[in-house]
Amino acid sequence: MPLTLYNTLGRKIEPFNPVHEGKVGFYGCGPTVYNYAHIGNLRAYVTHDILVRALRRFGYKVTHVMNVTDVGHLSGDDDTGDDKMLKSAEERGKSVMEIAAFYTEAFFNDIKLLGIQKPNIVCKATEHIGDIIALIKRIEAAGFTYSAGGNLYFDIAKFPYYGELSGRRFDEHKTLARAELDNNKRNQGDFVLWFTKSKFENQALTWDSPWGRGYPGWHIECSAMSMRYLGEQFDIHAGGIDHIQIHHTNETAQSEAATGRHPWVKYWVHNEFLVLDKEKMSKSTGSFITLKNLIDMGFDPLDYRCFLLGGHYRNQIKFSVDSLKSAQNTRKSLLSTLRAIAAKAGITTEETAGMETGKGNAHLESFNLALEDDLNTPRALSSLWALLKDNNIPPKDVLAAAFDMDKVLGLDLAGGTFKKDAALNSVDETEINTLITERAAAKAAKDFLRADEIRQSLKERGIILEDNPKGTSWRYGE
Ligand code: AMP
Ligand code: ZN
Repeated sequence: MPLTLYNTLGRKIEPFNPVHEGKVGFYGCGPTVYNYAHIGNLRAYVTHDILVRALRRFGYKVTHVMNVTDVGHLSGDDDTGDDKMLKSAEERGKSVMEIAAFYTEAFFNDIKLLGIQKPNIVCKATEHIGDIIALIKRIEAAGFTYSAGGNLYFDIAKFPYYGELSGRRFDEHKTLARAELDNNKRNQGDFVLWFTKSKFENQALTWDSPWGRGYPGWHIECSAMSMRYLGEQFDIHAGGIDHIQIHHTNETAQSEAATGRHPWVKYWVHNEFLVLDKEKMSKSTGSFITLKNLIDMGFDPLDYRCFLLGGHYRNQIKFSVDSLKSAQNTRKSLLSTLRAIAAKAGITTEETAGMETGKGNAHLESFNLALEDDLNTPRALSSLWALLKDNNIPPKDVLAAAFDMDKVLGLDLAGGTFKKDAALNSVDETEINTLITERAAAKAAKDFLRADEIRQSLKERGIILEDNPKGTSWRYGE
């Protein structure tokens, strides 16, 4: 089966065929560095990472480009609201560049902790103003712009495919409040390519341009930088679903206006949102949760990655501390199971290079099929469990196949299995049997609280107790 992906452009699952055989140009919209990323944002980057890793697994040479927005992003994607960078700098008593540097570092630290491979190219908007101006000039020369009130606008009425990506015309998207109406716009769906007359008197960063001193609108940076590094037509562009209606629709309009080429991007991949299950969320975490908040609560960042993989990227995921705890238990079970298998195989180091996946191949095949089916990570995780529970496969093959799967899952299974100081110790059978006996005694004495406590504490270590007529047995599992 070839890799298939749901393409927002066309709204169906399609076989993936790149523009140039064997190569993939991939652009994922990156962070606006005015604050920490929240765990919803981080879901988008984990999705990109899984996609890139899967493409590499299937033999493609991927160039992954990510932008960093350090100028021009207003709180409303349609040119309304405050300037995010400027507001943050003012609130924190810092310069815009200081804010950008601080949150850029924090962002790359977060994604590293989440096992996200660094993109091949990370590009900052402020370092690509030349590319941005050159692209706007092309759009202007092609007749798609007008100047009004000191700003240069893109005229969406001139672009025949406008709204193709979202499936809706701009006027169906959103009714703007009167205060947000921009009287300079011919159509409220038009958007700014270059601001010269800023609504922010103290705009910190400005550049000279053919339209006067000013700064770029937000959407244009993604078109300019993606084309700079991936060419005028490329394979995959990704982001969260919130970007379909305005940001990605506008990116497409201006890019295709400049190049005259349609489609500009072959596959648009959008992840659904992470939403907060407010009832279950403790007050201290509020509604803006960062990775650091999770770490402070005692989670490993990879628990959160594991939590995300448990859902399909096109389904909404509800976040709650309880569901994260259950993902944490899943990861612990995976590691303790792998530890026991490694012990059985007599393998004591991560050095599994060259180890054959042998009889694990059938499970690897189902794992690959799951990924090929529009990146079905929940099914891919099930293939991993099926492999770990398959007693007909030599332990060495199981380990090699599991670590191979982890090249996409990115849960650091090999590292976790052989970590010396991990909280997870390899299983001591005598200890388990003692606990089983203690639990039986507790049950006999009707101390069900203690009996449950024992079952639960073992479960957290990836050991499942099963009561049967002959007594209680145990196995590794979720
Ligand atoms: P932004 O910095 O607002 O452009 O967001 C960065 C990325 O996170 C974009 O791809 C957004 O579409 C995505 N995003 C924002 N909020 C969420 C959320 N709650 N769940 C998943 N993705 C999100
Ligand atoms: Zn973008």
